[in-house]
Order: sequence, then C-alpha cells, then structure tokens
Amino acid sequence: MTATTQASAQSDLVIAGLDRLVATSGSAGVSTIIKPFDGTVLGELPKSSVADVEAAFTRARAAQQHWVRTPMRTRTRVLTQFTDLVLKHDSELLDLIQLETGKSRHSAFEEIADIVLWTSHLAQRGPAVLAERRHRGALPLLTQTREVRVPKGVVGVITPWNYPLTLPVTDSLPALLAGNGVVCKPDSQTPFCALRVLDLLLQAGLPRDLLQVVVGSGREIGSAVINRADYIMFTGSTATGRTIATQCAQRLIGFSGELGGKNPLLVLADADIERAAAGALHACFSNSGQLCIATERIYVHQAVWDEFKAAFLDRVAEMQLAAGLGWDADMGSLISQSQLEAVTEHVADARAKGVTVLAGGRPRPDLGPYFFEPTVLTDVTPGMKAYREETFGPVVSLYRVASDDKAVELANDTDYGLNAAVWSRRNGERVARQLQAGTVNINEGYAATWGSFRAPMGGMKQSGLGRRHGAEGVLKYTEAQTIARQRVVRIGGFEQVANRRWATLMSAGIRVLRHFM
Ligand code: NAP
Repeated sequence: MTATTQASAQSDLVIAGLDRLVATSGSAGVSTIIKPFDGTVLGELPKSSVADVEAAFTRARAAQQHWVRTPMRTRTRVLTQFTDLVLKHDSELLDLIQLETGKSRHSAFEEIADIVLWTSHLAQRGPAVLAERRHRGALPLLTQTREVRVPKGVVGVITPWNYPLTLPVTDSLPALLAGNGVVCKPDSQTPFCALRVLDLLLQAGLPRDLLQVVVGSGREIGSAVINRADYIMFTGSTATGRTIATQCAQRLIGFSGELGGKNPLLVLADADIERAAAGALHACFSNSGQLCIATERIYVHQAVWDEFKAAFLDRVAEMQLAAGLGWDADMGSLISQSQLEAVTEHVADARAKGVTVLAGGRPRPDLGPYFFEPTVLTDVTPGMKAYREETFGPVVSLYRVASDDKAVELANDTDYGLNAAVWSRRNGERVARQLQAGTVNINEGYAATWGSFRAPMGGMKQSGLGRRHGAEGVLKYTEAQTIARQRVVRIGGFEQVANRRWATLMSAGIRVLRHFM
C-alpha cells in the first residue's frame, strides 16, 4: 500500500492563486483547509463576512443585468470552453479533489467525467429546454400565446464536501445558462475545488462577478446567502435542508433540496451473482461510502444468499485502501475526524446490540488519521442506528429475505427515498416500479441513473424537493411567464356582457372549443 500525500507541483501552483477569487474584504479571518490523507494543512483562505456576502450579491446582480441580454450561443460557448479546460487540466484537478477530500483517484475521476458530460449535455440541450414555446391560445388563431422563461435573478447554491468539484458545477451551470447570477457557498472543508471551478469559468469567458464564491461555515454565512437569494439550490443533509427550506418559505422563494439517503440494493433470485457482487461493491464503497446515492442496505433473496454473500465478501477482502495520488487504491480516506467518529459510532452501536461483523469494522490510523475499513454487517436489527439512519460511510448491512415482495417492503421501510438498485435478469423493471425512490438502477448501483442527464434526478420522501438534471433541473432556475396577444375579437369587456349577440356567439364557441383543449 502506498501512503503518499504530496501534492504535485502543478496542484500547489493552482491552489496558491485561488485566494484572489474569494468574495471577501479580508476582515472575517482565515479558514484552514486540511488534507484528509494525513491531517496536515492543505492551505488557508480568507473567509467571507455577512457584509461580504451582501456585496457578492450586489455584484452578481449587476453582472446578471448584462448576462440576461447575452445571446444563448455566447452562454453555451462559455460552457464548451470550460469543458475543454477541465479536460486540459484533468490531472491537476484530480490531484486537487483528492487532496481536499482524501478520496481515491477512481472516485475523483467520476467527478471529472461527470462535469465533462453534464456540461456538454447542457451546452447542447439546454438552449432547446429554455427556448420560448408557443401554445394554443384562448381563441384559436385570434390569441397568440407564448411561454417565456425568465431567470430567477441571483441563485444561492450551497454545496457539501463529498463531491466538491462536481456539485458546484452541476448546480451552478444550469442556473448560469438560464441567465442567472450565482452566489455559491461550498462546504468550508472543500472551498478550493469550487474556487478552481470559478477560475476555469473565468478563463472560459464567464463575465466577471456573475459567479461569486463565498467562503465560511453555514452557521456564519448561510443565512446571509438565503436572505438575499432569489432561489436556493441546496445539497446536503436532510436536517440542514429542512432548516433552509423553512427560511426559504418565510421569504416565499423557491427551494430545491438534494438531501440524504439510506439506499437499498435488492439481489433477486434470478440475479447474475458475480455481476451483482461486483456492482454492489462499487455501489457501497465508492468515495468511501460518502455518496448520497451509495448503497447502505442490501436485501438478498434466500435462494442466492450464500452465493452472493461469499462473492461479495471475497471482493471486500481484496479491496486496496491507500492514501495518495496514485490509481492503485480502491478506497481512500474519510473526509474528517467528525466523519470518522460518526461512522465508528454506528458500528460500535451495532456491535453493542449484537450485530455480526462480516468484514472490516475498524478505523485504520496506520493508513491515515480518518481511514475506516470497508465494513459489512449482518443481523442488523431495528434498534441499531445502522438500520435506519444514514451512516454516510463505508458500512453496509446485508439482510436475507424470503421473497421479492419482502425485499420491496423492507427497502421502502425508510423515511428516505433517494436511490435504489435491483439486480435481476427478468424482474428488474417490475420491482423497480414498486420502490419508493427518485432513481432506481437495474443491474447497476447508481451510475446508470445519475449519468442519464436527460432524465431528472432527485429524492422522494425526506430525500429532497425538486430535481436536478433533465429539463426540470434547468427550468427550476426560471420563472414561467405567459404572454398572450389578442387580435380582432376581445375575450372580455363589460359592455360586451350586456350584448346578447356576443354572448350567443361565445356560447356557441365554447361548445366547440371544449372538444379541442
Ligand atoms: P450539511 O451539514 O447539511 O452541509 C451541507 C452544506 O450546507 C455545507 O456547505 C454547509 O456548510 C451548509 N450549511 C450547514 N448549515 C447551514 C445553514 N444553517 N444554512 C446554510 N448552509 C448551511 O451536509 P453534510 O453532512 O456535510 O453532507 C453530507 C450530507 O449531504 C449527507 O446527508 C448526504 O446524503 C447529503 N448529500 C446529498 C446529495 C444529493 O444529491 N441528494 C449529494 C451529496 C450529499 P459548512 O459545512 O461549511 O458549515
């Protein structure tokens, strides 16, 4: 196992200049960002005060006034050039993601792939989604009706630490394409990635001031963002999402929340077991399980229980854990001490209540301060935290079930409804439709639905409000405005109410029209 945590010379260079992009007057102190691989300091950034957030909104609002009049082809050109820059700098971006989060290079690569494909999709399909639409008018031929998409104004985008490059891009770029300004507050543990996104967007031709990045904790500057935004896009925990949604409701502004999950994976009796075991491994331990759509519960049909359990555990035993910027690690570190404590607590609680640990279950300080082994539990009971609460780490529970119906019943027995997976040769579609989750992957863990950018993605129940991706993920950053132009005959008018001939004519008209609505 390797244990290198040195940044490449290129990464040091990129990080060094990013402090100039923070929206700050420099009066709010300094934020220290840690390298999870070894717990040492990656860098420092000046923090943003509440007044700095206000100033950031003022600048973004002024820039948005010009941007909203910028032709769509100019906007898409920025996106395309940004994609080119991401590909040109992919190696140093991978370094930066890894250094800021401690994740493996494979997991970091998923962020690069996601950004390139999502941004390309937006540049190609976004204009059609946002285009003006004609609708049948109140009176055919006599009423010309158009639906116009008006940007919200300045959108607040609040992102977590687990996908620090992907999430600011995923949520800010559709808002920008739709003609908005954006103030982005990345998690205070991972602001460098968001600042590097801004850096590359400016190089790609994004107007100065249109996208502002503020640095600081949610407690310190979160309310300042929410109080000035025209719409909030939030990704993070359900608890924080509920607090922010309440603040948005007070202001009567829109809120979209991509929140937590306790995602089930079902292995049906007719599954290809080797493929299911390999797919489940990725679904559970990608990004060290710190992935909102990662699998935390696996329901296995009793007919294939022994076979699946053996195949899955064999693969878990072979996993390579390592710190460092190489491609050799299957799994990296957790992000922080508090994340390590949360994961350790779920396993300790389960142990105290009689769980069987089939694999892992321990921190690995020999690899780095926040490493935790890929862990497989069984005999998990409802009284254990791991049964119902989101662990958000590399811990999965295996449950043996007697039938597909029982698997569905247990999979749905949760307040969450983010993502689900079904492994089956013939029954995947049927079972998928019974699952209460915003995305369901058949013979894949999460990548099939996440990567289907033309389709919406988001949570049911306590896992979210609204959707990202698809048309909904772009249109939510706009207000629909309907403009109808009336010609020749007026529809309303007091003097006409008294006009018996007009009333007779309209009465005949609605008798015909009702068949063509
Ligand atoms: P979190 O505590 O809710 O934090 C997320 C973001 O919200 C951070 O930027 C945080 O800032 C900020 N924040 C915290 N309190 C705030 C407040 N009162 N007002 C405004 N902003 C506030 O989330 P986390 O626990 O770090 O992240 C993991 C969670 O995110 C998991 O539950 C995971 O499932 C979920 N997640 C969901 C998706 C999805 O697409 N559904 C994707 C990724 C993660 P600071 O941390 O800087 O204080």
